[in-house]
Amino acid sequence: SKAKLFDQNTDVKTSFKDVAGLEGAKEEIQEIVDFLKNPEKYTSLGGKIPKGALLVGPPGTGKTLLAKAVAGEAKVPFFSLSGSDFVEMFVGVGASRVRDLFKQAKEKSPAIIFIDEIDAIGRARGKSNMSGSNDERENTLNQLLTEMDGFGTNTNVIVLAATNRADVLDSALMRAGRFDRQIFVDLPDIREREEIFKVHLKPIKKSENLDTDFLAKQTPGFSGADIANVCNEAALIAARQGKKAVDKQDFLDAVDRIIGGLEKKNKIIT
Ligand code: ATP
Repeated sequence: SKAKLFDQNTDVKTSFKDVAGLEGAKEEIQEIVDFLKNPEKYTSLGGKIPKGALLVGPPGTGKTLLAKAVAGEAKVPFFSLSGSDFVEMFVGVGASRVRDLFKQAKEKSPAIIFIDEIDAIGRARGKSNMSGSNDERENTLNQLLTEMDGFGTNTNVIVLAATNRADVLDSALMRAGRFDRQIFVDLPDIREREEIFKVHLKPIKKSENLDTDFLAKQTPGFSGADIANVCNEAALIAARQGKKAVDKQDFLDAVDRIIGGLEKKNKIIT
C-alpha cells in the first residue's frame, strides 16, 4: 500500500473553545489567525507576515490541538504530517515530498502546514542520530528551509511545527523568516486541569455531578492527553462492569491506571 505523505483537512471543526487552559499560547497564536484572515491589514502597511512558529512543550499538552484550532478559527485548510513518520517512510524521496506538500498548500492558500515532531527532520545538521539516514534527513531539512525562504510575503501559508526538544533543533530553523517565533505550551496547572476535565467530561454519561476540582487535585503532572485518557478509561471501566453511567470510583480507578502507565513509561526512559 502507498504510504500517505500528509493529511489534508479542508473543513477543520476544532476551535479555541476545544483548547482548555493555555491562555497565553492562545493569545499569542491568535495573531496568526488574524494574519490568515486579514493579510492585507498587515501587508498594506509594509509588514511581512510570519512564515512559521514553533510550538514547544512536553508531549500531550495540546500542541497539535492548538495548531488545528488555528486552522479552524481562520477557516483555512490544515495540512499535517509527522516528522518521524516522514523520515521513516520516505527514504530517498523526502525532499521531493516536502516540495509536493508546499505546492499543494500554496494552491489551497491561505493554509496551515503543521509538522509534528519537527526534531525528527530538524535536528542540528552534522550530529548523528544513530538512524544512519543522516544525509537523507539533511536533504529533507534543507528542502524545508528552501521552501520557507522561497515563498513570498503574500503566499499566506504559515508553517506551525511542534517539538518537545527545541534544544536539539538546527539553529537555521529558528532564523528570521523561518520559525522565528516560539510559543510555549506547558503542562497544565491545577486550574487548567480542571478546565481540561470539563472539556473531556462533556460527552461522558455521568452518574452524579463529578467534582472537577477534586479530579484536578488527583492528577498533578498529568497532561491534557492524560486527562482525555482518564475520561475515556473511566467510561470503559464503568461499561465493563455493566454500569449505566460513570461514577466517581470509575474515575479514581482510571486515574490509578493512567498513573501506572506513566510510571511504566518513565521506567523505560530512565
Ligand atoms: P505530542 O507532543 O505527543 O504530539 P501534543 O502536544 O501535540 O502531543 P495533542 O496531540 O494536541 O498534544 O493532545 C492530545 C489530546 O489530548 C488532544 O487531542 C486532546 O484530546 C487532549 N488535550 C491535550 N491538551 C489539551 C487541552 N489543553 N485542552 C483540551 N484537550 C487537550
